[in-house]
Amino acid sequence: MTIDHKLPIFDGHNDALQSIYLPKTGKQRPFFERTAEGHIDLPRMREGGFAGGFFAVFVPSNSSTGGFPGAMPDSTVTAYEIPLPAPLDLTYARAITIKGMASLFRLEAESEAQIKVIRTAAELTAALDRDVIAAVLHFEGAEAIDPDLDALEVFYQAGLRSLGLTWSRPNVFAQGVPFKFPASPDTGPGLSEAGRQLVRACNRLGILIDLAHITEQGFWDTAAISHAPLAVTHTGAHALCPSTRNLTDKQLDAIKDSDGVVGVNFHVGFLREDGRREPNTPLSEIVRHIDYIAGRIGIGHVAFGSDFDGAIMPLELGDVAGLPKLLKALRDHGYDEDALRKITHANWLRIVRKTWKQCTI
Ligand SMILES: [Zn+2]
Repeated sequence: MTIDHKLPIFDGHNDALQSIYLPKTGKQRPFFERTAEGHIDLPRMREGGFAGGFFAVFVPSNSSTGGFPGAMPDSTVTAYEIPLPAPLDLTYARAITIKGMASLFRLEAESEAQIKVIRTAAELTAALDRDVIAAVLHFEGAEAIDPDLDALEVFYQAGLRSLGLTWSRPNVFAQGVPFKFPASPDTGPGLSEAGRQLVRACNRLGILIDLAHITEQGFWDTAAISHAPLAVTHTGAHALCPSTRNLTDKQLDAIKDSDGVVGVNFHVGFLREDGRREPNTPLSEIVRHIDYIAGRIGIGHVAFGSDFDGAIMPLELGDVAGLPKLLKALRDHGYDEDALRKITHANWLRIVRKTWKQCTI
């Protein structure tokens, strides 16, 4: 299948850094040569027309504190609840975060100008124009940041441009939803006072605030004080798949009202009506969520948020090299080139421009 160079794909979320550098085992896999491991490497990105996205730094829970990923249910289970892991220690979280950042900067340095860590909207458009892979440094959870926010200033200067307030875990700023199906995302408390300060600081610095994984109350607390468009990088429609990780219609409406964006997660367990973690799930399930969100809040507010290297992909898609199949499925479903331009990159570009500009206000 041919790549459509007019439709560079800028994606809301991947966990490639965790897959390439594995903090638990110290093992690594190649990134610059094509393998069948994981979902992302440079040759497969090129094959799939993947032009960039948010590259997550994620701190796994210690095995002693339980939780993800060991306890996840198998593909036949249709109702489950994974208890929230314990909060992380700041020193541990910061050490792993710095390792994740270093691995991204090393990839950039070793890429012979094929990958660029993006710090401004102008750099992002230039990278997309020139076929340079655009990597936005994202933290999936704020555990490496102290409540005084000293580390936030430092991480911003190092290139942090997108921050998930929490993963599915409590921290000093907010609380995430447990992996639970079927269930509402209204599972616990919202932002702490430190969390509110963090939102204000992100607005001031121009860091995108990612509301994936947060409790519904945390979502509303952020919506009430943030001046930036609301963004949820990897999620789905709760009306179609009642996972705690998906957004209710009310949340979708609030994202529209803020001129924000929803990145649709390709994880089968957040797509399927029955919530099963079953790889044998058709690509049309992704189209179904895009359709629903576009139908409810408009084509200007839906994008991709693959979760490559962090989730179970539909077999039909496979990995990042399979993205042209998704574009074909969307075209066959009636999406025209203007709609595809918005879904593949223009919506994320708009949000990034509006959010990163906040630093000048
Ligand atoms: Zn995630």
